[in-house]
This record gives sequence, structure tokens and C-alpha cells, in this order.
Amino acid sequence: MHRPYLDIGTVLERIAHKHASVGVRPEQYQLVHDHLLAAFSRILGRAATRQVTAGWSELYWLVADALAHREADLYRRFGIKPGENWRQWVVVQRVQETADVISLLLEPADEWPTDPFVAEQYVSVAVPVDEGSFQIRQYSISSAPGTRRLRITVERTAGPGRPPGEVSCHLHDKVFLGDVLLLSPPFGEVVLDDSHDPLLFVSSGVGVAPLMGMLRHLVNTGADREVTYVHMDKSVTTHALRFELEELVAALPNARRILAYADLTCAPREAGPLPLDFASLTLPLNTRAYLCGTPIRMRSWRNELVRAGVDPVRIRYEVFGPDLWRAYT
Ligand SMILES: Cc1cc2nc3c(=O)[nH]c(=O)nc-3n(C[C@H](O)[C@H](O)[C@H](O)COP(=O)(O)OP(=O)(O)OC[C@H]3O[C@@H](n4cnc5c(N)ncnc54)[C@H](O)[C@@H]3O)c2cc1C
Repeated sequence: MHRPYLDIGTVLERIAHKHASVGVRPEQYQLVHDHLLAAFSRILGRAATRQVTAGWSELYWLVADALAHREADLYRRFGIKPGENWRQWVVVQRVQETADVISLLLEPADEWPTDPFVAEQYVSVAVPVDEGSFQIRQYSISSAPGTRRLRITVERTAGPGRPPGEVSCHLHDKVFLGDVLLLSPPFGEVVLDDSHDPLLFVSSGVGVAPLMGMLRHLVNTGADREVTYVHMDKSVTTHALRFELEELVAALPNARRILAYADLTCAPREAGPLPLDFASLTLPLNTRAYLCGTPIRMRSWRNELVRAGVDPVRIRYEVFGPDLWRAYT
């Protein structure tokens, strides 16, 4: 039998963080309810009897109430009212990491106390697009907690035959030193555990961003956990934060780095080709794994890790888009 590998609690927690990061307000649930039920009735036609509609409505409110309560807790944590989560941050450094990836180091523009964030969270960034309207996207914090500054690392989303990504291209083309961005407080439920278990980080492409914050946090706190960091990329030239990864792994007493590239030109001697054979990693069975890459890749990494004996509940992942929760093993 196929079983989903996320439980409903995990799914709701993930949604609540995302909602809070974009400023969802409790009264908006009524609006969604009304439109959702109208859509059901339209699609189901005569099958949408009063009982069927009432059943959907009851289920909707069960989920909506749970989310609204959790979101109220999250807003309280930052002392903000629902929906009032935008603050100004100034770009104090901009680094071109690769041809398609930049990092922006940001500092609060006002006297607000810096929000506490834990290793591996994200902020929502709101950028003006047309007159008076904003587009909102999430970007992982690629720096470690503990300072007033935070860093985001953004890949330009573009490709032949596709329109340029609205927010990533705006950040690449229009945001420079001294510019101001609107950011939400940090949210996100995939955070580094505080056990002493061995750690496995697996990233590909710009998926390196959130895991880098975790790695730096381990260095800053003098952690001596066993760490294996695996990164996969097209080539060294597309591998963002490559030297930082090397430096952080070297600074940890018990860490190793495994690199795999599709094109091995100019790659370090120890780098291997893709695909990587996860069975060759010989991981301890109590490993805790954190993954960040495209959903298709993460699904395959996860399956390979489970086959290699890693407990599925010890595998966490961050997904840069809609969740994978309907995916099955
Ligand atoms: C929790 C989380 C953390 C994240 N962290 C990071 C991070 O650290 N770094 C990072 O770079 N990204 C991160 N992301 C992804 C980021 O939020 C954005 O999704 C990404 O930057 C693309 O946004 P965009 O506005 O540039 O593209 P969009 O405008 O949203 O477009 C997305 C894609 O859709 C295509 N598209 C748009 N319109 C059409 C159309 N009409 N027809 C066909 N195709 C179309 C575009 O070509 C593009 O490929 C994260 C996402 C989440 C959810």
C-alpha cells in the first residue's frame, strides 16, 4: 500500500508558517471558504447536495481553525498583528556568487529588535511590480542566526521559452547596495535539531542556501557532531557558495564534504560524477538528514536514503515551491 510520508500535523505546520510569512489574516479564511464551496458546487453540479456541501464546509473549518490558531501564535511570537509583518531592510552587501546567483546581506532599516531566527528559516520578500501591487516570494536565510544581519541567496529564474521569474529577476536587476527591501520576520518549520546525532546535508543548485545557514550555525556553536555534506551541481562554475562550504566543513572537527558535478571540468580532485551513489556514503543508522533541491531530486534522494537504512522520520527537507506532501514513496 502507498502511504504519504508526511503526517497531517507536519503539513499544517508547514502551511501555517508559509501563511504567516505572507501575512494571511483570519478573516481571509471566510473568503476562501465561500469561493471554494462555490467552485465545488459549480463543478459537482447536482451531486453537490446540501449534505455534501455541509461535509466539505465542516472539514474546511476544521483545517482553517487549526491554521488560524497556529498563525496567531506565530504572529504573537513577533508581537505583530496578523498581516502587519512587513519591515524595511537595507542591502549592506551584494555578492555575485555565480552567473545566475547573488547573495544580499541585509540589515534592519529601523530600530526594531532583530527577530530571533533559528538555523534554516526563510523570509518572505515583497517587491513592487506594477503600480501599487507587490509580488511575494520566500528566500531561505543562508547565514547563521545570532547577528542583526541576515543573508539571502537568490537564483535568477529564467530559461528559454519561459517568461523571466518576476521577483528573482527584480532582485538581480534592480536591487543594489543601499536599496531597501520589504521583509517578513523569519518563519519556517524545518529547523536544525539540537541532538548529537550524525548529520547529513544534501543539496543541489541553489538548495545549498538554507543548509549553509545550518552549517555555519554548527561552526559558530562549536558543534562536534559527525557531518556529511553532499552537494550536486552542473559544474563548479554554477556551484554557489562553494568556497564557503569548503571553509565551513574544514572548520568542523568531524565533517566531510562530497561533491558531484555533471561536468567535472576544473572540479576538485575528490569530486565525482553524477548521479551520486548514496549507498557509498556508509551513513550511521541514527543519521538525521536535511535535503534541499528540486522536488523530483529530493524524492529520489529520500528513497535512496531509506533504502540505505536511514529512518524516514529523520529525513527533513525544504522545498522551494509547493510542497511535496502528496508525493508517495
Ligand atoms: C520556503 C522557500 C524557500 C526558498 N528559498 C529560496 C532561496 O533560498 N533561493 C532561491 O533562489 N529561491 C528560493 N525559493 C524560491 C523562490 O521563492 C521563488 O519561487 C523563485 O525565486 C522564483 O520566483 P520568481 O518570482 O523569480 O519566478 P515566478 O515569476 O514565480 O516564475 C516561476 C517560474 O514560472 C515560470 N512562469 C511564470 N509565468 C509563466 C507563464 N505564464 N507561462 C509559463 N511559465 C511561466 C517562470 O518562467 C519561472 O520559471 C524558496 C521558496 C520557498 C517556498
